[in-house]
Amino acid sequence: MTRIDLHSHSSVSDGTDTPAEVVEYAVAAGLDVLALTDHDTVAGIEEAARKLPAGFTLVPGMELSCAYEGSSVHLLCYLFDPEEPDLAEELRRVRSDRASRAEEMVRKLREHGVGVTWERVLEIAGAGHEEHADANTIGRPHLARAIVEAGAARDVQDAFDRWIGSGGPAYASRYAIDPVRAVGLVRAAGGVCSLAHPGRAEGSLNNTVPLELVERMVAAGMGAIEADHPSHNRAQARYWRGVADDLGVVVTGSSDDHGSLTGRRLGCRTTAPEAFERLVAPATGTPLLRG
Ligand code: AMP
Ligand code: MN
Ligand code: MN
Ligand code: MN
Repeated sequence: MTRIDLHSHSSVSDGTDTPAEVVEYAVAAGLDVLALTDHDTVAGIEEAARKLPAGFTLVPGMELSCAYEGSSVHLLCYLFDPEEPDLAEELRRVRSDRASRAEEMVRKLREHGVGVTWERVLEIAGAGHEEHADANTIGRPHLARAIVEAGAARDVQDAFDRWIGSGGPAYASRYAIDPVRAVGLVRAAGGVCSLAHPGRAEGSLNNTVPLELVERMVAAGMGAIEADHPSHNRAQARYWRGVADDLGVVVTGSSDDHGSLTGRRLGCRTTAPEAFERLVAPATGTPLLRG
C-alpha cells in the first residue's frame, strides 16, 4: 500500500528539521510520497529533492496563508509553477509582510517588558529578511521560541496563550490573500489545491472555515479538503469528509509535521492513493519529483 502524506514543514518555514532531514524522517516513517508544504515558500524543495531515495516521490508544494473576514484560512498548494508572475508577486508580498509583522510583535513584546530581540528572532528563523524570492518565512513559532528563551513563557504553547495567539497582547495581524483569489492564482500557475485543516481556522466562528466560502473555493477550482488532520477530532474529520463528498472533491489526510515543534509525526494521517491520483491529475505547473 502506497503511503502518502501531503502536508509537512521544514526549517525553511516554522518546522525544526531541514528539508533533507524531513525527507529522511519521511522514509523512516515508511512513507512513499511526501509533500513539503512550507508556509508561503517553495525554498526548501530543491534541497529535499536532492535526498530522494529510489522509489520515493516528493510533491513540490507550499501552505499559502489566506484570510477571510479576519480569520485565517490555509491553502495547501501543489505542483504549481512558482515563477508564474502573479503568484510570485503575491508570495513576495506575503513573505515581506510576515517580516514586518514579526518586527511589530517584537516591539509590542518589548513594550511589555519581554526581552526578545529582532536579531535573535531572525537567528531562530534562519532568515535574512530580504525580500528575495527564496527567503525563509518568519512565523509566530519562531517568536514563541524567542519568548521562551527570554523566560516569559514556559513553552511554545504557553507563549501563544500568553502573548501572540490571535487577540493576545503582542499579537499583530498580517497581510494574507483572499482564499478564492488564491485558488485562482494557483490554478492559473498550473497547480492544484486542498483546503488545510478547515476545522482549525484561527479567528473564525467556531474555528471553522464557513461553508459558503468552501463552496466558492471549490467553484474556483479547489480539488480537495484536508479532512484528516491531527487537530481534527473524529467528528470533525467525518463532517469534512461529508462536505468533500457533497461538493464532489477529494479528501486528503496529512500529518502537518513541524519536527520537534509538533513532535515528529510524519505519516500519522495519510491520503488514499486514488484520492492523490485524482487531485494531481489536472496539475501542469511542475512535475512530481521521483527518486
Ligand atoms: P503565523 O503563520 O506566523 O501566523 O503562525 C501560525 C503558525 O503558528 C501555525 O502554522 C502553527 O504552526 C503555529 N500555531 C498557531 N497557533 C498555535 C498555538 N496555539 N500553539 C502552538 N502553535 C501554534
Ligand atoms: Mn506552521
Ligand atoms: Mn496551517
Ligand atoms: Mn501546516
